[in-house]
Amino acid sequence: MAKKWYDSKVIKITDESPTTKRFWVKVESDKIVDFKAGQFVTMDLPISEKRTQRWRSYSIANAPDQSNILEFCIVLLEGGAATTYFFNEVEIGTEIKFKKPAGGFYLPEKIETDLVLICTGTGVAPFRSMLWDIYNNKIPHKNIHLIFGTRYANGVLYENEMEELMEKMPELKYSVALSREEHLPEKKYEVVKGYVHPIYQKHFETVRADVNFWICGWSNMIDEAVAKLMLEMGYDKGQIHYELYG
Ligand SMILES: Cc1cc2nc3c(=O)[nH]c(=O)nc-3n(C[C@H](O)[C@H](O)[C@H](O)COP(=O)(O)OP(=O)(O)OC[C@H]3O[C@@H](n4cnc5c(N)ncnc54)[C@H](O)[C@@H]3O)c2cc1C
Repeated sequence: MAKKWYDSKVIKITDESPTTKRFWVKVESDKIVDFKAGQFVTMDLPISEKRTQRWRSYSIANAPDQSNILEFCIVLLEGGAATTYFFNEVEIGTEIKFKKPAGGFYLPEKIETDLVLICTGTGVAPFRSMLWDIYNNKIPHKNIHLIFGTRYANGVLYENEMEELMEKMPELKYSVALSREEHLPEKKYEVVKGYVHPIYQKHFETVRADVNFWICGWSNMIDEAVAKLMLEMGYDKGQIHYELYG
């Protein structure tokens, strides 16, 4: 039976943007930490006396590989208890306790439709896991369109990897929406000024049954995307899947 809680140690930390860091943790155990690309873990962090106030969830950003190393991509929230802890106190060797991976935000075993993956900021984490999983395991799939939104060009996460994946997977399209950037950079992928919504509204304007939308991020973006897809564009509820960060 899989363990309920795992003990891990931080083995690597890097900056991914001015406000986002990547953290790698390793679980020293013969038991494999099993997870599906897209799932998250809930950590018990030393940020409160009360047990339930210490718990925060983070998507696993790497693809399953049996290494017992998990990667997390975490954005600093000013005044946020957990993220202040991660950014100010966590260092190589810090122990992190987390519950076994959970959540239903993972792709079906058989991918039979086109996929539109919509995210803002660290909401890209589960999609990075899914894309590498599809590529590494040669999982049959159709067209995939990753739509990523952030404020400025220096906030684009995993940019090099997405460019690499575009080369490895010609059926992958990548679009970036920059809401506050004055000068849009010239890129190999589509870059637009504004939010993520006009991108899928343009590319998927004609309603099709053979497409599924996967959305990840905070409630303001998800609420707007679900409302636009269903009420304005006419997509069916069953074609829309989301992971709400808060
Ligand atoms: C399933 C799941 C997966 C998650 N995965 C990730 C992940 O991979 N990376 C990641 O950075 N975060 C992720 N989160 C969010 C994370 O759990 C915390 O909520 C976040 O790190 C803030 O924690 P905090 O203690 O610093 O802030 P708190 O003090 O708990 O936050 C205060 C309030 O701000 C809200 N909030 C937090 N961050 C933002 C934001 N950026 N924009 C708007 N409102 C916000 C919270 O919902 C809360 O109501 C995930 C959440 C869930 C439920």
